Amino acid sequence: MIVTIDGPAGSGKSTAARGLSQRLGFEFLDTGAMYRCVAWSVLDQNVNPADEQAVGAVSQQIKISFSDAKVLVDGQNVSQLIRTPEVTEIASLVAQYPAVRTELVRLQRQTAEGIDIVSEGRDQGTVVFPEAFCKFFLIADPQERARRRHEELQAQGKGMPIADILQQIDERDQRDEQRTVAPLVPADDAIEFNTSTLTIEEVLDQLEQIVRSRMSSKPH
Ligand code: C5P
Repeated sequence: MIVTIDGPAGSGKSTAARGLSQRLGFEFLDTGAMYRCVAWSVLDQNVNPADEQAVGAVSQQIKISFSDAKVLVDGQNVSQLIRTPEVTEIASLVAQYPAVRTELVRLQRQTAEGIDIVSEGRDQGTVVFPEAFCKFFLIADPQERARRRHEELQAQGKGMPIADILQQIDERDQRDEQRTVAPLVPADDAIEFNTSTLTIEEVLDQLEQIVRSRMSSKPH
Protein backbone atom coordinates (compact mmCIF):
# COMPACT_ATOMS: atom_id res chain seq x y z
CA MET A 1 0.00 0.00 0.00
CA ILE A 2 1.32 3.43 -0.91
CA VAL A 3 0.67 6.73 0.86
CA THR A 4 2.11 9.84 -0.78
CA ILE A 5 2.95 13.15 0.86
CA ASP A 6 3.91 16.00 -1.45
CA GLY A 7 4.41 19.70 -0.87
CA PRO A 8 6.93 22.54 -0.98
CA ALA A 9 10.08 22.87 1.14
CA GLY A 10 9.34 23.60 4.78
CA SER A 11 5.72 22.45 4.61
CA GLY A 12 6.51 19.83 7.24
CA LYS A 13 6.14 16.91 4.87
CA SER A 14 9.40 15.14 5.76
CA THR A 15 8.63 15.08 9.48
CA ALA A 16 5.03 14.13 8.77
CA ALA A 17 5.97 11.36 6.34
CA ARG A 18 8.53 9.88 8.70
CA GLY A 19 6.15 10.04 11.66
CA LEU A 20 3.23 8.63 9.72
CA SER A 21 5.30 5.72 8.44
CA GLN A 22 6.24 4.88 12.05
CA ARG A 23 2.66 5.05 13.25
CA LEU A 24 1.44 2.84 10.41
CA GLY A 25 4.40 0.46 10.51
CA PHE A 26 5.22 1.32 6.88
CA GLU A 27 8.56 1.97 5.20
CA PHE A 28 9.50 5.60 4.52
CA LEU A 29 10.95 7.00 1.31
CA ASP A 30 12.55 10.47 1.16
CA THR A 31 12.69 11.15 -2.59
CA GLY A 32 14.20 14.62 -2.08
CA ALA A 33 17.26 12.83 -0.67
CA MET A 34 17.64 11.06 -4.03
CA TYR A 35 17.78 14.37 -5.93
CA ARG A 36 20.24 15.59 -3.32
CA CYS A 37 22.41 12.50 -3.90
CA VAL A 38 22.61 13.30 -7.62
CA ALA A 39 23.47 16.93 -6.81
CA TRP A 40 26.14 15.88 -4.31
CA SER A 41 27.70 13.46 -6.82
CA VAL A 42 27.71 16.13 -9.52
CA LEU A 43 29.64 18.44 -7.19
CA ASP A 44 31.88 15.64 -5.93
CA GLN A 45 32.81 14.59 -9.47
CA ASN A 46 33.29 18.19 -10.63
CA VAL A 47 30.60 17.82 -13.27
CA ASN A 48 29.10 21.07 -14.55
CA PRO A 49 25.55 21.24 -13.09
CA ALA A 50 24.42 23.10 -16.21
CA ASP A 51 25.48 20.20 -18.45
CA GLU A 52 22.19 18.31 -18.59
CA GLN A 53 23.58 15.30 -20.42
CA ALA A 54 26.52 14.85 -18.05
CA VAL A 55 24.26 15.21 -15.00
CA GLY A 56 21.87 12.65 -16.49
CA ALA A 57 24.79 10.25 -16.90
CA VAL A 58 25.80 10.75 -13.25
CA SER A 59 22.26 9.90 -12.11
CA GLN A 60 22.46 6.62 -14.04
CA GLN A 61 25.94 5.69 -12.84
CA ILE A 62 25.64 6.18 -9.09
CA LYS A 63 24.00 3.70 -6.75
CA ILE A 64 21.70 5.39 -4.24
CA SER A 65 20.54 3.32 -1.27
CA PHE A 66 19.04 3.73 2.18
CA SER A 67 20.10 1.80 5.26
CA ASP A 68 18.93 2.38 8.86
CA ALA A 69 17.92 6.00 8.16
CA LYS A 70 21.26 6.59 6.43
CA VAL A 71 21.54 7.73 2.81
CA LEU A 72 24.32 6.06 0.82
CA VAL A 73 25.89 6.83 -2.56
CA ASP A 74 27.98 3.94 -3.83
CA GLY A 75 28.18 2.72 -0.24
CA GLN A 76 29.38 6.06 1.19
CA ASN A 77 27.28 7.59 3.96
CA VAL A 78 26.25 11.01 2.59
CA SER A 79 23.39 11.69 5.04
CA GLN A 80 24.96 14.92 6.32
CA LEU A 81 26.79 15.89 3.13
CA ILE A 82 23.54 16.17 1.14
CA ARG A 83 22.04 18.72 3.55
CA THR A 84 24.34 21.66 2.79
CA PRO A 85 22.91 24.86 1.20
CA GLU A 86 25.05 24.23 -1.90
CA VAL A 87 23.62 20.75 -2.46
CA THR A 88 20.11 22.10 -1.78
CA GLU A 89 20.55 24.64 -4.54
CA ILE A 90 21.97 22.20 -7.10
CA ALA A 91 19.33 19.56 -6.24
CA SER A 92 16.53 21.86 -7.31
CA LEU A 93 18.45 22.63 -10.52
CA VAL A 94 19.14 19.04 -11.54
CA ALA A 95 15.57 18.03 -10.62
CA GLN A 96 14.49 19.89 -13.75
CA TYR A 97 16.29 17.47 -16.06
CA PRO A 98 14.07 14.77 -17.62
CA ALA A 99 16.88 12.19 -17.69
CA VAL A 100 17.45 12.59 -13.95
CA ARG A 101 13.75 12.37 -13.18
CA THR A 102 13.26 9.26 -15.34
CA GLU A 103 16.07 7.49 -13.52
CA LEU A 104 14.91 8.48 -10.03
CA VAL A 105 11.24 7.72 -10.73
CA ARG A 106 12.32 4.23 -11.83
CA LEU A 107 14.25 3.81 -8.59
CA GLN A 108 11.35 5.11 -6.49
CA ARG A 109 8.89 2.65 -8.06
CA GLN A 110 11.37 -0.18 -7.65
CA THR A 111 11.86 0.70 -3.96
CA ALA A 112 8.10 0.70 -3.32
CA GLU A 113 7.41 -2.56 -5.09
CA GLY A 114 5.47 -5.02 -2.95
CA ILE A 115 5.82 -3.12 0.33
CA ASP A 116 3.76 -0.68 2.42
CA ILE A 117 5.37 2.72 2.16
CA VAL A 118 4.91 6.42 2.83
CA SER A 119 6.67 8.25 0.02
CA GLU A 120 7.45 11.92 0.27
CA GLY A 121 8.42 14.47 -2.40
CA ARG A 122 6.96 16.81 -4.99
CA ASP A 123 5.48 14.46 -7.61
CA GLN A 124 4.69 11.28 -5.71
CA GLY A 125 0.92 11.56 -6.01
CA THR A 126 0.88 13.02 -9.53
CA VAL A 127 3.58 11.18 -11.48
CA VAL A 128 5.29 8.42 -9.54
CA PHE A 129 2.34 6.74 -7.80
CA PRO A 130 -0.85 8.02 -9.43
CA GLU A 131 -2.69 4.94 -8.08
CA ALA A 132 -1.58 5.55 -4.47
CA PHE A 133 -4.02 4.47 -1.76
CA CYS A 134 -4.02 7.85 -0.06
CA LYS A 135 -2.46 11.18 -1.16
CA PHE A 136 -1.67 14.24 0.93
CA PHE A 137 -0.43 17.66 -0.11
CA LEU A 138 1.01 19.75 2.72
CA ILE A 139 1.44 23.49 2.57
CA ALA A 140 2.46 26.18 5.09
CA ASP A 141 2.71 29.96 5.02
CA PRO A 142 6.08 31.21 3.69
CA GLN A 143 6.93 32.99 6.98
CA GLU A 144 6.37 29.80 8.95
CA ARG A 145 8.37 27.72 6.46
CA ALA A 146 11.27 30.17 6.70
CA ARG A 147 11.07 30.06 10.50
CA ARG A 148 11.26 26.24 10.47
CA ARG A 149 14.21 26.26 8.09
CA HIS A 150 15.94 28.88 10.25
CA GLU A 151 15.50 26.65 13.30
CA GLU A 152 16.84 23.65 11.39
CA LEU A 153 19.93 25.58 10.28
CA GLN A 154 20.52 26.91 13.80
CA ALA A 155 20.40 23.35 15.13
CA GLN A 156 23.25 22.59 12.69
CA GLY A 157 25.14 25.61 14.00
CA LYS A 158 24.54 27.61 10.82
CA GLY A 159 22.98 31.05 10.94
CA MET A 160 21.23 32.80 8.06
CA PRO A 161 18.92 35.83 8.11
CA ILE A 162 15.23 34.90 7.79
CA ALA A 163 14.88 37.29 4.82
CA ASP A 164 17.55 35.35 2.88
CA ILE A 165 15.89 32.05 3.73
CA LEU A 166 12.54 33.40 2.55
CA GLN A 167 14.08 34.44 -0.74
CA GLN A 168 15.72 31.02 -1.26
CA ILE A 169 12.48 29.20 -0.46
CA ASP A 170 10.63 31.41 -2.90
CA GLU A 171 13.17 30.75 -5.68
CA ARG A 172 13.06 26.98 -5.11
CA ASP A 173 9.24 26.97 -5.09
CA GLN A 174 9.12 28.87 -8.35
CA ARG A 175 11.55 26.49 -9.99
CA ASP A 176 9.64 23.44 -8.71
CA GLU A 177 6.24 24.83 -9.71
CA GLN A 178 7.24 26.12 -13.12
CA ARG A 179 9.36 23.29 -14.48
CA THR A 180 7.90 21.43 -17.45
CA VAL A 181 8.48 17.91 -16.13
CA ALA A 182 6.62 16.85 -12.98
CA PRO A 183 5.97 20.31 -11.54
CA LEU A 184 4.96 20.77 -7.92
CA VAL A 185 1.16 20.60 -7.99
CA PRO A 186 -1.34 18.72 -5.86
CA ALA A 187 -2.86 15.62 -7.46
CA ASP A 188 -6.59 16.04 -8.19
CA ASP A 189 -7.39 13.49 -5.53
CA ALA A 190 -4.90 14.73 -2.90
CA ILE A 191 -6.08 15.96 0.50
CA GLU A 192 -4.59 19.37 1.20
CA PHE A 193 -3.42 20.46 4.66
CA ASN A 194 -2.06 23.78 5.83
CA THR A 195 0.32 22.89 8.66
CA SER A 196 1.21 26.51 9.66
CA THR A 197 -0.66 26.54 12.94
CA LEU A 198 -0.56 22.83 13.74
CA THR A 199 1.93 20.92 15.85
CA ILE A 200 3.51 17.84 14.30
CA GLU A 201 1.42 15.63 16.62
CA GLU A 202 -1.77 17.34 15.41
CA VAL A 203 -0.75 16.83 11.77
CA LEU A 204 0.09 13.19 12.41
CA ASP A 205 -3.17 12.53 14.28
CA GLN A 206 -5.17 13.84 11.32
CA LEU A 207 -3.18 12.02 8.64
CA GLU A 208 -3.22 8.76 10.56
CA GLN A 209 -6.94 8.98 11.17
CA ILE A 210 -7.65 9.52 7.46
CA VAL A 211 -5.46 6.62 6.35
CA ARG A 212 -6.89 4.27 8.96
CA SER A 213 -10.49 5.14 8.18
CA ARG A 214 -9.80 4.48 4.50
CA MET A 215 -8.14 1.20 5.35
CA SER A 216 -11.23 0.02 7.15
CA SER A 217 -13.65 1.20 4.47
CA LYS A 218 -11.79 0.61 1.22
CA PRO A 219 -10.40 -2.70 -0.02
CA HIS A 220 -6.68 -2.45 -0.85
O1 C5P B 1 12.60 17.72 -0.31
P1 C5P B 1 14.00 18.24 -0.52
O2 C5P B 1 14.17 19.66 -0.14
O3 C5P B 1 15.04 17.36 0.11
O4 C5P B 1 14.23 18.14 -2.10
C1 C5P B 1 15.37 18.67 -2.73
C2 C5P B 1 14.99 19.12 -4.15
O5 C5P B 1 14.68 17.97 -4.93
C3 C5P B 1 13.74 20.01 -4.21
O6 C5P B 1 14.07 21.37 -4.19
C4 C5P B 1 13.09 19.63 -5.53
O7 C5P B 1 13.54 20.48 -6.56
C5 C5P B 1 13.61 18.25 -5.81
N1 C5P B 1 12.61 17.20 -5.69
C6 C5P B 1 11.82 16.92 -6.78
N2 C5P B 1 10.94 15.87 -6.75
C7 C5P B 1 10.82 15.12 -5.65
C8 C5P B 1 11.59 15.42 -4.50
C9 C5P B 1 12.47 16.48 -4.55
O8 C5P B 1 11.91 17.60 -7.80
N3 C5P B 1 9.97 14.09 -5.64
